[in-house]
Amino acid sequence: MSRALTRRRFLREGGTAALGLALAPAWRLEAAPAFDLVLKGGTLLDGTGAPAWQADIGLVGDTITALGSIAPEQGRRLLDIAGLHVAPGFIDIHSHSDFSLVAYPGAESRILQGITTEITGNCGSSSAPIAGLGAQASRRGFLNDTGVEADWSDVASYFGRLEKTGVSLNQALLLGQGTLRQNAIGLVDRPLSPDELKGVLRAVEEGLDQGAVGLSTGLEYTPGMYTPTEEIVAMARVVARRGGLYASHIRNEEAMLLEAVNEAINIGRQAGIRVEISHLKAAGEPNWSKQRGALDLIESARRDGVNVLADAYPYIAYSTGLSIFLRGWAREGGPPAYLPRLRDPDTRARIRREAVEYIRNEPGGYHLIQISSVQSQKNKVVVGKNMQEIAALWKMEPVDALLRLLEEEEGSVSYIGFGMSPENVELVLSHPLVMIGSDGYSIAPTGRAAETRPHPRSYGTYSRVLQHFVRERRLFDLPTAVKKMTSMPADQLGLRDRGRLARGQKADLVVFDAAGVVDRASFTDPHQYPVGIAHVLVNGALVVEQGRPTGARPGRALRNS
Ligand SMILES: [Zn+2]
Repeated sequence: MSRALTRRRFLREGGTAALGLALAPAWRLEAAPAFDLVLKGGTLLDGTGAPAWQADIGLVGDTITALGSIAPEQGRRLLDIAGLHVAPGFIDIHSHSDFSLVAYPGAESRILQGITTEITGNCGSSSAPIAGLGAQASRRGFLNDTGVEADWSDVASYFGRLEKTGVSLNQALLLGQGTLRQNAIGLVDRPLSPDELKGVLRAVEEGLDQGAVGLSTGLEYTPGMYTPTEEIVAMARVVARRGGLYASHIRNEEAMLLEAVNEAINIGRQAGIRVEISHLKAAGEPNWSKQRGALDLIESARRDGVNVLADAYPYIAYSTGLSIFLRGWAREGGPPAYLPRLRDPDTRARIRREAVEYIRNEPGGYHLIQISSVQSQKNKVVVGKNMQEIAALWKMEPVDALLRLLEEEEGSVSYIGFGMSPENVELVLSHPLVMIGSDGYSIAPTGRAAETRPHPRSYGTYSRVLQHFVRERRLFDLPTAVKKMTSMPADQLGLRDRGRLARGQKADLVVFDAAGVVDRASFTDPHQYPVGIAHVLVNGALVVEQGRPTGARPGRALRNS
């Protein structure tokens, strides 16, 4: 790129001050360096989708204070990034690190792919607040998964716990509608009474007071599935008044996909709130033809003035709990209530019939259901196997093997479902109203996580987009990919000081080799870090240097403001 063009871009992108600084460098007269750190010689992708341009970046503390030509001696420290790209740190709008981050505060699965901020509390389920009827269940579930005691209750004490532990990347939290409802009345299939609703709305206010950035629903899960739309609208109105976001794992991603997208849009319209449709997909081959229609609904809602966007991860498989194959009535009350139902021959027969029916539609076969984690030692052998293989091992029908696994694991089984078509994954990812979100979480290949075979998205989402969909498939260009990972989620969340390379923005940065990024996490070997991500900075501090974690913990709880 010519120098003239570079300068023009400075002016267009609001870099006049930076250019002025370069032309009239008053600081050159000072003895002390002007910057704590200078990133020298990089090619900038500023997060807006604009073409890349050459400039140095100067940081003071946690802030970008200059973009332009900066003399090396002006930095207390210099990072030579010639030949590499530098972008705003990736903002993962759809993370489930709520609990795992406490066990894995280094968040290696995230920072090593360039993620610098995660939004947790998605799919209706948040780490906080934990109270009332929800407290016991949440704490027990947490203990099972990670072995760390949940010693917080509300949003403030959860953030306090993260700050005390020290984490490597920033965290923002959505309030889980399911969590709030479970706290209030448990996992019961009925509407809230007016008094109960008042209590839940108060809990929403409190959560927002303590810094939550919005509300999420998980309407395919308990108790989201028992929640009438009006209840969500009432909660979303409270969030809208405070400028927050409504993120929805919608009520159905299969045969009723279009109806479910419409429900989310209607909630946005009625509550006057920004809407994020989480992990947009059409799951199950019989439903693949609905994907285009779902995008059309989002487009037309925006034309009507509803501020709705979606996120997606770059894989043909999703991952969730195996209990999703039990219908709503069978899951009421959670595992303590449904395990006896599985033991009763009559109710078991009905549960079995309905599961067979469901699996025929989605994902469309038992070979497409691959177990990713179990709790018991004796069943570790089935991790990584699909339900057809497990059925053969146990010499029974696949549906019976599935129910046996749920029973033996007391409902705590995760699986990977190969439910999406490659064409739809590309259709969704390339759509201008869709950003990247991993649906993964903070882990590392150590401790309990090493005994699981999780979906590779926790380790590979962002590098897979950069390698496979940008470089190999040419689905969109690099600036567009970075925009989908930075300014788009920042704007949708209302994070005003992150997501762009500009003066005054927080210094969350990822430096990478665009031609050399390789995603190494696969469905058979997911605990693999990508290569080609050279340096990652969070709030001005290096958390990854020369491709390795530094152990620094500069991450912050990002409270709404
Ligand atoms: Zn979800």
